[in-house]
Amino acid sequence: MITIRNLTFKYRTKDMFDNVDMDIEKGKITSIIGPNGSGKSTLVKILVGLYRYNGKIEINNIPLLKDNRKEIRKNIGVVFTNPDNQFVAETVMDDIAFTLENMNYKKIDIRKKIEEVSKYLGIYDILECNPHDLNSNQKQLVSLASALVHDPKILILDEALTMLDLYDKEKILKILKELNSKGLTILNISHDIEDTLISDKIYVLDKGKIVLSGTKEEVYKEEDKLHKLGFELPFMVELSNRLMFYDLIDHVIYDMEEMVDILWK
Ligand code: ADP
Ligand code: MG
Repeated sequence: MITIRNLTFKYRTKDMFDNVDMDIEKGKITSIIGPNGSGKSTLVKILVGLYRYNGKIEINNIPLLKDNRKEIRKNIGVVFTNPDNQFVAETVMDDIAFTLENMNYKKIDIRKKIEEVSKYLGIYDILECNPHDLNSNQKQLVSLASALVHDPKILILDEALTMLDLYDKEKILKILKELNSKGLTILNISHDIEDTLISDKIYVLDKGKIVLSGTKEEVYKEEDKLHKLGFELPFMVELSNRLMFYDLIDHVIYDMEEMVDILWK
């Protein structure tokens, strides 16, 4: 879905990426994790066409160039960490409508799309509220609605789960998994390794370089490398490893509900 070849990018005062390659596969959940300052948000800004870069990037088979940014953006939905910075309107309804108005959707279609996405995400009842008055989970759901309302092919989350508590995070992760099973490609970016449990593939970024990549099984095996970058194994992996040591389970369990289920039996 996204192919990145020889990506090179410099800020005026800083070399950021030097010949980076990456593949974000269609229909998969790919995570990029890295410490603060490793270049994750820079990459997102490049992908949404905000920065000029050297190298080759294709999104859904369209080369990412300056003059087709608008076309490319139709395929992408983005959610950032702090939803408060993303809200542009006085009501949730108008906020979600904003994306569609920018894409010249007809009024009647806008209503229909908003009704659809808000019902799906469980925020239909708060469409008339001011987004700033909502709790953090609702705010994140509104951002998610704005990112999804135009049916993008790929959803990019830049630390979108960071501000949520464990319970709300679980809820949103569930929604993401379901959207993915319906065909949405997801690029999930975080500095927290716990957010990578749902991924098919993980890239670990450090100072603009990919230092580790592979399936989550492959990446979680590299405990020493992860430690050096300041990452512990995700709690579920750590717990599974201990339980396997005592022969209580025979494989790593990533899902808490599944774990509870198995241990209960
Ligand atoms: P991350 O999202 O992984 O925390 P960023 O992509 O935000 O990292 O930043 C990567 C590096 O680039 C950091 O060292 C940051 O200070 C620097 N940086 C970010 N934005 C700019 C900018 N506009 N000009 C110069 N340096 C920047
Ligand atoms: Mg960032």
